[in-house]
Amino acid sequence: MTKRIGLYLIPIISVFVILFSACTKEGGPVAEDIDNTPENIIIKPNDFLSESRYVKLVIEITAVQGFEPSTEAVNDLKTFLKNILNKSGGITIVSNSIASPELESYSLADIKEIEENYRTSFTEGKTLSAWFFFADADYAGNEDDSKVLGVAYTSTSMAVFKKTVNEFSGGFWKPSTKILEETVMKHEFGHILGLVNNGTDMVENHQDTSHGSHCNNEDCLMYYAAEHSSGVVSFLRGGEVPSLDTNCLADLKNNGGK
Ligand SMILES: [Zn+2]
Ligand SMILES: [Zn+2]
Repeated sequence: MTKRIGLYLIPIISVFVILFSACTKEGGPVAEDIDNTPENIIIKPNDFLSESRYVKLVIEITAVQGFEPSTEAVNDLKTFLKNILNKSGGITIVSNSIASPELESYSLADIKEIEENYRTSFTEGKTLSAWFFFADADYAGNEDDSKVLGVAYTSTSMAVFKKTVNEFSGGFWKPSTKILEETVMKHEFGHILGLVNNGTDMVENHQDTSHGSHCNNEDCLMYYAAEHSSGVVSFLRGGEVPSLDTNCLADLKNNGGK
């Protein structure tokens, strides 16, 4: 039986949608995710950013076999986080692969069940834990021509729909798969860090309020691309993973980050 230490205080559920390039917010604290063990800990963005409670971060990546992220993307995520998070004990990434659950698509409930069954790292002592799932099928909540690439659904959990990432990368007029998956991983981690105005307060107002917890700078990693654009493909036309802009970086620093 899996010991769950996560308690999900903040309704950080955000999805990064292609074409509409939307991250939507849904739901609230999820009652069934809250267990009553004495070890129960509430994880907040400040716990990632500062080291007042945790000096070390372990990121576990559980991927369906054949749908793993590239080593380069994972290394870049680590460097990105090292530059933002105060974790003097280091950031470690552990990866493992699982056989395909053979689902046609993944609902959030499906992903949570996989997390229950396969997540092995949890926040303990001075070590904070985060978890990614790399899926071999689309998000079940996709509507018509919008497809979700990634989701941050609790205070420490994220999923990347790698099959969908593959579909929208690696061809003419498309970003490389490495660039796209790295963008999605960093963007979802940005939500875990409380961006924008969702657990980490804004220093200057830069929230794109019409698109939830996103930044109003169209060159920022936390931007929610305009509905009329070709979404993430157009967003990544520069051929590089977007960086966090000055406002997003200032928010993170103000909430205990570097
Ligand atoms: Zn988002
Ligand atoms: Zn920004």
